[in-house]
Formats: sequence, structure tokens, C-alpha cells
Amino acid sequence: MSGRKPVITSSAAQHFWDECAKGRYLLQQCTNCQTFRYPPGPICWNCASDGVEWVESPGRGTIFTFTTIGRAPSEEFKPYVPYTVALVDLDEGPRVMGNVIDCAPEDISIDARVEVAFEDVGDAVLPQFVLSGATAS
Ligand SMILES: [Zn+2]
Repeated sequence: MSGRKPVITSSAAQHFWDECAKGRYLLQQCTNCQTFRYPPGPICWNCASDGVEWVESPGRGTIFTFTTIGRAPSEEFKPYVPYTVALVDLDEGPRVMGNVIDCAPEDISIDARVEVAFEDVGDAVLPQFVLSGATAS
């Protein structure tokens, strides 16, 4: 499953993925203007401050758009098709990407409410999304 393992490109990204492995979904927040930063980075895109803190997000948001993949892009993904990749507008503001899991593709719609769910793929824990209320019943 190496095709699904994230490529770590910075110490901030390493921290994000380490916390995902503990079941915590973190966002960077500017300590100067309180803007949430995504992806993690050294400078606030809004005010250019380098002041930052990590805050835990409940990982709730709304689907901005999505696509369902029916043909695997590589061997590693063949067991997962069809799967749905969505852009999710988190309640804190950032637009993030993740798979929508544990539901049929036809149940997914633009503007649907979702929440983060952590998927252990063996050599990484990925923050994915489930439809809100899907785990409550
Ligand atoms: Zn800022």
C-alpha cells in the first residue's frame, strides 16, 4: 500500500501525520490574525506572520465537490475502486482533500455534511471523511 502513504515534505507535515496516527486532526492557526493555515507552512498567507500554534479540529465540514474514481491510477489502488475523493470545506475555513469512506458513492452529494474519520492503511493513518450521522445509527 505504499501508494497511499503520504510523502512527508516538512517538519510541520511530519507533526500533522504523527498526530493523525493518534487520532487527532490538527490545523495550524496564526497567533497574529487567527487565520487557519492549510496546508501547514511557515508563514500565514493572510498576514505574513510566522506566529503559529496547532489546534485540534473536530474535522467537520461540507463537501465542496467530489469525484468517484472507477479506474485505479496504479496497482495499489485497485482494491479500493470505486472510491470517492472530495474537497471538503472545514468549518474553520480551510478546503482540504480526503476520501469519503464507509458509504456508497451514490449517497454522496455536494453540500453534504461530513466529519473526519481516520483510516489505518498499514503504514500510515489517513484522515478521511464519513457522512455526518453515518456512524450514529
Ligand atoms: Zn495571520
